Amino acid sequence: MTRVSELLALADSITGFMPPDEGRALFDNALLHGARKPNATWMEIGSYCGKSSVYLGAAAEQSSSLLYCLDHHHGSEENQVGWPHHDPTLVDLEDGRLNTLPHWQRTVARARLESTVVGVVGESSIVAQHFAQPLDLLFIDGGHGHDVAWRDFQLWARKINTGGLLMIHDVFSNPSDGGQVPYEIYRAALQSGVFVDVAEVGSLRVLVRIR
Ligand code: SAH
Ligand code: MG
Repeated sequence: MTRVSELLALADSITGFMPPDEGRALFDNALLHGARKPNATWMEIGSYCGKSSVYLGAAAEQSSSLLYCLDHHHGSEENQVGWPHHDPTLVDLEDGRLNTLPHWQRTVARARLESTVVGVVGESSIVAQHFAQPLDLLFIDGGHGHDVAWRDFQLWARKINTGGLLMIHDVFSNPSDGGQVPYEIYRAALQSGVFVDVAEVGSLRVLVRIR
């Protein structure tokens, strides 16, 4: 088994909300982009237990890029007790809060990606206001509530270099398939004239910054 196929198989097996075909698309697009611009800085917003971190991390490793994975690790609204995406095994028995950080760390260690994938633990908008490094790839998959997702788009997408990739997850044009906020920010990215579409697999959208 090659290193890449080992990592993709591992990613497929991790708990999360990323179907394998969308995970592969995340990897494929990141890999292509990394080949064109190696040694770059990439950012994932919303890491949960590390599934998408491994798909992206596998591509980052191939291009000697560094992938930051940002999450406060206390889960989104839909991960809390009483919500459909709640997993009781992720609750910290000390304080009763959801805590995915140990799970994310174990995933990255199992993948042997610790030199390529670096965790940033905190609230996305707070980190964004102090993060000055330009990005060559941004993956937005954090909170899907209106204010949180719009802030992620407004505060982070402007850091992408011209030629860089913007990937957005859970984009559903039909309201019966899922929440509309990721779709709204995807539309806004296109309407700005700053980003154009390059790929679409399931609910994943891949855009490139053209100016
Ligand atoms: N990309 C992951 C799934 C992410 S789920 C995968 O495909 O495997 C969304 C994550 O966003 C949750 O782990 C949650 O803790 C995080 N999140 C939600 N709102 C956030 C915020 N405001 N700041 C930081 N992280 C946030
Ligand atoms: Mg998602």
